[in-house]
Amino acid sequence: MKFVVDQDTCIGCGACEGACPEVFQMQDDGLSKSIEAEIDAALNDSAIEAEEGCPVSCISHE
Ligand code: SF4
Repeated sequence: MKFVVDQDTCIGCGACEGACPEVFQMQDDGLSKSIEAEIDAALNDSAIEAEEGCPVSCISHE
């Protein structure tokens, strides 16, 4: 799985980093970004938890 944060919608709450810091990291601009590579399958559950917990639903995966 690969995850993407919509930079136009993210409000910088930090919840995703809290749920799955291996995949989502807050940037200097105050918004979250996901790692661009395919993630380790062991991280799928926590990354999906982060996606589902995003208050503005701006995380998606493929
Ligand atoms: S949980 Fe959503 S709104 Fe909050 S920092 Fe992460 S991507 Fe942005």
